[in-house]
Amino acid sequence: MYTNLKFYIDGSWTNPTGETVIDVINPADASVAGRVSIGTAANVDKAVTAARKAFTTYSSTSVEERLALLDRIIAAYQQRTGDLALAISEEMGAPTWLAEQIQVPIGLAHFQIARAALEKFDFGHSQGNNEIVREPIGVVAMISPWNWPMNQVTCKVAPALATGCTMVLKPSEISPFSATILAEILDEAKVPAGVFNLVHGDGKSVGNALTSHPDVDMVSFTGSTAAGIQVAKNAAETVKRVQQELGGKSPNIILRSADIGAAVGGGVAQIMLNSGQSCNAPSRMLVPAERMAEAIAIARAAAEEWTVGRPESNAKMGPVASEAQWNKIQRLIQAGIDEGAKLVTGGPGRPDGLENGFYVRPTIFADVTNDMTIAREEIFGPVLTMIGYDDEEEAIRIANDTIYGLAAYVQGEPAEAQAVAQKLRAGQVLLNNVQLDLAAPFGGYKQSGNGREWGAEAFGDFLETKAIVGFR
Ligand code: NAD
Repeated sequence: MYTNLKFYIDGSWTNPTGETVIDVINPADASVAGRVSIGTAANVDKAVTAARKAFTTYSSTSVEERLALLDRIIAAYQQRTGDLALAISEEMGAPTWLAEQIQVPIGLAHFQIARAALEKFDFGHSQGNNEIVREPIGVVAMISPWNWPMNQVTCKVAPALATGCTMVLKPSEISPFSATILAEILDEAKVPAGVFNLVHGDGKSVGNALTSHPDVDMVSFTGSTAAGIQVAKNAAETVKRVQQELGGKSPNIILRSADIGAAVGGGVAQIMLNSGQSCNAPSRMLVPAERMAEAIAIARAAAEEWTVGRPESNAKMGPVASEAQWNKIQRLIQAGIDEGAKLVTGGPGRPDGLENGFYVRPTIFADVTNDMTIAREEIFGPVLTMIGYDDEEEAIRIANDTIYGLAAYVQGEPAEAQAVAQKLRAGQVLLNNVQLDLAAPFGGYKQSGNGREWGAEAFGDFLETKAIVGFR
């Protein structure tokens, strides 16, 4: 589809000067879907220089000008939704229904939400004799993963544009197509030259050059905890602000007061969505011990509804995004079996008839204890672990017994669920299988990250606060 992806620097499309070109693999059948150049430190320097120059004027644009810009972007995005859906399916294997109905609309929603937040945002007010001003932080390096490729790029680009920052984006080398289309959308919407720049590459090349560039003021990173640690170390050399959205191992507590059919069925649906490749997926289901047998039966039936097939088929689940990811999931499924968890459905290998792509069988383990590898490591695949508990206190203890703290889920009678939510160490707690709210702050406690994305709360990370003391 895309054979020679260009970089977008200072308002122009430039042919990459990087020597290395890598294949982009279509996970549906392991065929080559396109090729992308790996940028160099020189490409990064050019992009950062352009962003720095553009910051001088873009940082002082009015709110009205930035609202008009977001309006133009929203209109241009709406013209390209079909292209974006196709690109996402080809690069990371999302089924057509998922790409069209969720992956692409989320990207649009982030621009719409940022626009609404910008209309009301307080960029300055007086405090006694002082003036408190909130100013854009400067040049932002953005590094994103492949699992929700539009969501993870637009949730950075939209608030950065709204607050007056300029930026250089390095999307995942696994999913460079949709990010290139976004750059075309921003170009079409007449984002001023240098405000948004795109350089393709991997972590070792462009990622490293961006996070250690002295003229970058902030790094907004989404990816694994291991890479996030490396990013923070690089950024520390020049004291950059680091916003990190990292891994998760989110608990889903089914309280005794829950409607067990809806609670367990909804939990299975959320771990199977996007082939389990969501950082906030409820991967540990905590079930009252005496209801485990019933919960297992419901979970098995719910998982078996998740048909697996090629993205353009009618299947509910596509492949996982890469061979590396497929291998990692297989290793962890095997670890679950070896450590004595009970395999309820699914298991190792590919589903019948899907021998070529990176397809995983929807898998459920029961009799899991929280010290098993499958309860501790992020699997990032369609694999649910079911853990029994005796009382609410134990459920809360198990839920919090993880290095992560991105999301948590509670199912049960509302007042009881609300009380449990207060005790969970996670950045977002979702009650009773409620739909995700993209205007609510999103981010992690503990090793799941720093800072918050989404909605008005995201603006804070892109702003500096200045106190002008004795202003009046
Ligand atoms: P990854 O960490 O391998 O890569 C993420 C991005 O970082 C890619 O663009 C990659 O090229 C880049 N990168 C890798 N090493 C780097 C380095 N040393 N310096 C700079 N950049 C580097 O992760 P992935 O496999 O693409 O994505 C899966 C991971 O992302 C999972 O752990 C998942 O939980 C996490 N994730 C978190 C969120 C969130 O919001 N918290 C959202 C989605 C994914």
